[in-house]
Amino acid sequence: MSLVVQKFGGTSVGDAERIRAVADHVARTHRAGHQVVVVVSAMGKTTDQLIRLADDVSSVQPRREIDMLLSSGERISMALLCMALADLGVEATSYTGSQAGIVTDTSHTRAKIQEIRGERLRATLESGGVPVVAGFQGVSEEREVTTLGRGGSDTTAVALAAALGADVCEIYTDVSGVFTSDPRLVPEAHKLARVSYDEMQEMAATGGRVLALRSVEFARNHAVPLHVRSSFTWEPGTWVDKEDPTMEQAVVTAVTLDLSEAKVTVTGVPDRPGLAARLFRGLADRNVNVDMIVQNTSLHGTTDISFTIPEADLDASTEVCTGLLDELGATGVTSDDDVARVSLVGAGMKTHPGVTALTFETLASDGINIEMISTSSIRISCLIRAAQAEDAVRALHAAFELG
Ligand code: ADP
Ligand code: ASP
Ligand code: MG
Repeated sequence: MSLVVQKFGGTSVGDAERIRAVADHVARTHRAGHQVVVVVSAMGKTTDQLIRLADDVSSVQPRREIDMLLSSGERISMALLCMALADLGVEATSYTGSQAGIVTDTSHTRAKIQEIRGERLRATLESGGVPVVAGFQGVSEEREVTTLGRGGSDTTAVALAAALGADVCEIYTDVSGVFTSDPRLVPEAHKLARVSYDEMQEMAATGGRVLALRSVEFARNHAVPLHVRSSFTWEPGTWVDKEDPTMEQAVVTAVTLDLSEAKVTVTGVPDRPGLAARLFRGLADRNVNVDMIVQNTSLHGTTDISFTIPEADLDASTEVCTGLLDELGATGVTSDDDVARVSLVGAGMKTHPGVTALTFETLASDGINIEMISTSSIRISCLIRAAQAEDAVRALHAAFELG
């Protein structure tokens, strides 16, 4: 007998028929003798609809109330799934994040899990039942409802798998696994049989939204094997696991695209020690996550500093920079959200020279200008115009023969 966590995303529980199909799969797993913990997302596009509703109602949106609103989506699917399971004779009990003992910090709309108590889930398992947990939510140390950021049900699932010592965490979604690129964008993309935590982490951080970044970090830190697969075909999907040292590593495993970043440039910054530190301290104090940074070599004693940030943090970032102009002695601030980041991820890059050259050649031959570059040992990212992003992804996918 093994313990399995099964997570079902929004499309997988998108309507009554889908919920019954999911219940059938859970019931089969349970009848085969496994202990099952289920995590569900909100049905279909519910979370997006709730966000739009909030926008229509008010421009002042206390983050506590946003969390109260958004957490309701997952409650609907967990209760409906338990009813569908009851119909199949399976004793299932739904739990909100709070009831499941998922304790987070107090950072509304992007809370981090601090601890999982999980006694009620264990009790349900021991009595032979199936706990069904609302994804994406928890309760803060101040006993407020919190949410974990978009895509956060993945994180709920992996965190529960780690806390309960599950043998595997199955992530059921609307594609049949992790592909060499988003299959909706690149029809030739193919499914990977396995991918390492490191590669998956870089993919999730650069726009491969099939798994939330935090969930991959959690899986890696707690060595939880993930199996990403389809709730439509139920075929075997992609295993996300520790790197296998006996296997040859692909030079490039995947190409990802992120359209959610924006670029800010501070011009005419005097070239003196301490000024960049002051600028990025200001951004850090406003909780802005800076990604790529480029500083030109100084001409006549001044330089321009450009950096990228999530689009959602653009207003806060320009405010910080504008507020610091006098102190820095800089001349101006410009921003641009028509940018896209395309990235190549592959563990074999470490040992194969030439990936950067081929990347730049490919973009150049399509007339695509590179505005910023950043790298890690297993990733290359280029910031380009958003309008050229899809062409760039397809061209790179073809150039590295991933199809
Ligand atoms: P869920 O609602 O099940 O959590 P998501 O929409 O969050 O599903 O994630 C699945 C989607 O991720 C797919 O429909 C696909 O378009 C997208 N995606 C982006 N990059 C990849 C990739 N490399 N492999 C597979 N899917 C990807
Ligand atoms: N419902 C939430 C979202 O749409 C969480 C999730 O689906 O993982 O972001
Ligand atoms: Mg998701």
